Order: sequence, then C-alpha cells, then structure tokens
Amino acid sequence: MTICGTILEVDRILNRYRQQGEVIGFVPTMGALHEGHLSLLRASKKACTKSVCSIFVNPTQFNDKKDLERYPRMPEKDCAMLEQAGCDVVFMPSVEEMYPAPDERQFDFGRLDKVLDGAHRPGHFNGVAQVVSKLFAIIKPDKAFFGLKDYQQVLIVKKMVEQLAMPVEIVPCPILREPDGLAMSSRNMLLTAAERKAASLIPQIMQMARQQFGTMPVAELKNKMLEEVRKEPLLKPDYIAFCDAETLESVSEVRPGQKIICLAAIFSGKIRLIDNMPVN
Ligand code: AMP
Repeated sequence: MTICGTILEVDRILNRYRQQGEVIGFVPTMGALHEGHLSLLRASKKACTKSVCSIFVNPTQFNDKKDLERYPRMPEKDCAMLEQAGCDVVFMPSVEEMYPAPDERQFDFGRLDKVLDGAHRPGHFNGVAQVVSKLFAIIKPDKAFFGLKDYQQVLIVKKMVEQLAMPVEIVPCPILREPDGLAMSSRNMLLTAAERKAASLIPQIMQMARQQFGTMPVAELKNKMLEEVRKEPLLKPDYIAFCDAETLESVSEVRPGQKIICLAAIFSGKIRLIDNMPVN
C-alpha cells in the first residue's frame, strides 16, 4: 500500500495505473476508520481493480468549530486497517495541500441542500461539494463509494457529479450497524458510556417508526418519536423528518408508490449523530 501526502505523488501513481488499464475505485473518508468505512473499501475492491482511500478531515464542511477540533484523528491506526483490508493507495493530504487558497466556490443544489442537514448545518454541503469535487479532480476515479448513512450527502454528490459532468459512477453502499443497531460512526468513540447507551435508542425509535408507519398520520408518528427521544435525558433531537426518498421534501401525506425515508439527527450529550431508515 502506498501512502501519498501530495497531489503530485498520488497523480503519478494513478496515471501509471490508468495507463495499465486498471479500474480505479475511490473511498473518501475523514479517518477514524471503522467497519462501515471498510465495507466501502470492500465494495470498491469487488467492483474495481485498484482502490484508493482518502483520509482528510475537511475543515470547510464543519459549521461548528468545536466539532472540527474534537473530531478524532488516528492516521497510523487508519493506515494499518487499510493495509490489512487490501487498500492500494491512501491519499492523506494536509489542509494546505487541499486549500492552498480559500475555496470561494458556492454550489447550488436547489432544494436538496436547503433541507435537513443543509438547514441545520449551514454551509456543510457546500464544504462537502468543495472537497469531493477537488478529490474527484485529483483521483479521477471510475467509481466512488459512499455510505447511505449520510443519505443526503449521497444525493448531493450525485447531483454535483451531474452538474459538473464528471465521468465517475457514484455507488451508494448500505449502512453498517453495531450489534445494538447504532449506525457505525467515527463520532461514536467520542460518546461516554452513558451517552453510548442512550444512543442505542436512536435505531430502536426508528425501527418503531418503520413498524408503525402507515398506521397513523405522519405528523402523529413523528411526535411519538420525539416523545420517545425526550424520555431519555441524554438525548436531544435536532430533527426527525419523513421525506420523499428522492427529493428529501418532507411529506405529510404519502402518494401511491412514493418511497419514504425517515431521517434523524439527534444529540447524545454534545455529540450529534445521524441515522436514516426507509419506512415503506
Ligand atoms: P466519514 O469518514 O464519516 O466522512 O465517512 C466516509 C464514508 O463512509 C462516507 O461515505 C460515509 O457515508 C461512509 N460511512 C460512515 N459510516 C458508515 C456506516 N456506518 N455504514 C456505511 N458507510 C458509512
């Protein structure tokens, strides 16, 4: 496995691969890797002949400075995990390498970046589009693998690729969960034991919503979920929403054939966790 810190280094290796006819798969991450990340790498290894992972905690996508400061960083452990999992190239740039000058680009994804995390984390998806577009320009992957845990991000990245006419296939991959159902996340390691226990209620409440969806009006079900969340003093809902799975517009009445997804952002202590589940 080759570890590259600069654009020139990674470009040199990937150019050679391309000349050799390799199919390049790409998994962008912010590090502090877990099985969820490795499942994306495995999907890449299955579909491509060479797999590249990036580890970069992108400052422009953090709307909360404290969140950026406390974000876990463990590059050596990450690289050992990637090597063990059969990654070919790791791209681990510095902030200066990625942003030699401030990125002033403003993306517009219509309604898609104005709702949910777009509304609750101002600037977040603009920062995601900035870094993913740069990474795609550097790596030029044939396929890029993204986890459905960040459901809105998958839709945003697909839309960005369309808008910029980038020749890359976006491959969405299923959510990996802990045995108690909590979606795996680098942020889980920041939870205290009590917060971790409280967080396990999040998938339980979403499962309840999935089971009861259709038996009562959407607004009533959402209130029921909020009530359940508020029963646990360590949890604080940021949002819970039932949305059209394609547009992410929130729904009150379901049209025949419409796919609905429940999305939630909930704080356990100071740590903001997200999850989602298709409900019909
Ligand atoms: P992050 O390091 O949090 O930016 O995540 C990097 C990639 O891994 C993103 O495409 C995430 O959606 C994906 N990912 C994170 N957690 C999970 C999970 N539990 N299951 C599947 N994919 C995940």
